[in-house]
Amino acid sequence: MKLWIFISFSIYQLMSFNFLNNIQIKISMIENAREFLSQINNYPISSRLEKQIANSDRALFILHDQLNLDAFPKELLDSKPLLIFVESLAYATAIPHHKQKLVYMLSAQRHFAINCYQKGFLVFNLFTESFYADALAEFLACYANIELIYMLPSEWDTRSQMSTLANIFGNRIKALPNQFFIADAEKFKPKIKKGYRLETFYRELRKQTSYLMQDGKPIGGNWNYDKENRKALPKRIVIPEIPETKPDPITQEVIGLVQKYLPNTFGKLDKFIYAVTRDRALELAQLFIETRLSSFGAYEDTIKLGEPFLFHSVLSIYLNNGLLLPQELCEMAIAAYEKNLAPLNSVEGFIRQILGWREYVRIYYEAKMPEARNSNYFEFTNDLPQLYWDAQTDLLCLKDAITNVINYGYSHHIQRLMVLSNFSNLTNTNPIQLNHWFWLAYVDAYEWVELPNVLGMSTFADGGILASKPYVAGGNYINKMSDCCSQCKYDVTQKTGEAACPFNYLYWNFVNEHRKSFIDSGRVSLMVSAYDKKPEDEKLSISQSAIQFIRNLK
Ligand code: FAD
Ligand code: SF4
Repeated sequence: MKLWIFISFSIYQLMSFNFLNNIQIKISMIENAREFLSQINNYPISSRLEKQIANSDRALFILHDQLNLDAFPKELLDSKPLLIFVESLAYATAIPHHKQKLVYMLSAQRHFAINCYQKGFLVFNLFTESFYADALAEFLACYANIELIYMLPSEWDTRSQMSTLANIFGNRIKALPNQFFIADAEKFKPKIKKGYRLETFYRELRKQTSYLMQDGKPIGGNWNYDKENRKALPKRIVIPEIPETKPDPITQEVIGLVQKYLPNTFGKLDKFIYAVTRDRALELAQLFIETRLSSFGAYEDTIKLGEPFLFHSVLSIYLNNGLLLPQELCEMAIAAYEKNLAPLNSVEGFIRQILGWREYVRIYYEAKMPEARNSNYFEFTNDLPQLYWDAQTDLLCLKDAITNVINYGYSHHIQRLMVLSNFSNLTNTNPIQLNHWFWLAYVDAYEWVELPNVLGMSTFADGGILASKPYVAGGNYINKMSDCCSQCKYDVTQKTGEAACPFNYLYWNFVNEHRKSFIDSGRVSLMVSAYDKKPEDEKLSISQSAIQFIRNLK
């Protein structure tokens, strides 16, 4: 293992990144770094800084997805611990993450570290080819006087590695509870194991936080407004443009490094639009509240060709690495409701996603790991089709969703669910492969959030712990909620045969083949009886069309 200790924002630290094989890359001057460079010029380690480290007795390790000092105890920060950041090549390349995810993770961490330095902290950036804990082990071995504090990581593997480190260094290492979520995982974990569903959990959290509550009752009289939130998109609706954030020199530097040294990871990097600082993320949150939130609820289940973002917030990226905190987003949405800037159905819908789903899937992850990784209830063995990697398909709804992912490392929820997961289910694709794809393909993907969504919510791979039924839908439903079908090569009105929309026959084939999982949930056994009522020749045609289509998929 190689470890470099680059001292507090020296020119080499900001401008070089030992990406592969210890290649030192020197890049031209970075504007934002000038301030630091004028104050510190310590590469290699100057005796003054070495002394400062040696004199420190406490260091706080901050992970790439914990970039918010508000989540750390005030007393700890007041004692001005040494702050340690690690740039881990092994983590970055453990799976071939979307290029934009790599840029985002690294640039946001560098910006945050600089910000901490500006706030008066002594900041150390460790660079390692290995994982976080390996770098920290070497650091601790060098500085025997230092006690290391860290916040429990959200992701399983990093947490396991940190706990191994704690076993080695004993009482020199102290873990803080993870403060990036609203719900107490220990309290809710046992309930999730018993098949505790989202709605009950969400109501408990509404009561706990008092969000949208009055006198112990939900404001407006209902806990949710789902019925008002399934509107089709009017043809002439104006969709506000997504605000873009121009990459600054630090981000440009990282873009260059990823393009040069990791050209073969997933996705495109032609355009990087995301914010990398908390200040800008807060501005984007405010812009969402002012320009999109009012229509968020009504159109949250719709798809429009060439419109990757619609009225969605595109804030998961910032929530998931700590730049934004879930409480503050909920409170901003409530303030908008109180000022009549957004209707209740939208505000409640938005809060349910963050306070409900986001917190719920995190607790599911806590309760079900690590076994959850192997979930494959239907024992599907088909490989993930090639089209997920290159968008080469005539199925227009799929092509549009995957193109969005390739271009932005993002597609909105309904494309993830109704198109990408649905198609995977209907083609009997191994859900573990789909899970892997979702993990690497999205900028907002961290295992704790994508895994429950993929293996629990979307594919029923856990056998019904998170969802009550498999998520499958035919072409009719996609047609109802999108404008894709009118421009597609396939005919959504035809049920079988070469010209028919494949979602149609694949759907009925799935209902028939997995009838038990529908009948078990009672509510949807209607679909099974609808299938059973079909004429025998249609059933045969459904099955033949489905077999043929799946066989031809590469
Ligand atoms: P909005 O539609 O604006 O929703 C607001 C916020 O609610 C989001 O920012 C997000 O933080 C939260 N949220 C909404 N739905 C969920 C959910 N089901 N689970 C957790 N949080 C939710 N979300 C991720 O953050 N990372 C993932 O890797 C991820 N993978 C997914 C995979 C599949 C198959 C599916 C069906 C969903 C996945 N989601 C994931 C959930 C959801 O699709 C995204 O959070 C959302 O699309 C992010 O875009 P947005 O910020 O514009 O969300
Ligand atoms: Fe998708 Fe079928 Fe519609 Fe084409 S016709 S866009 S494949 S649902």
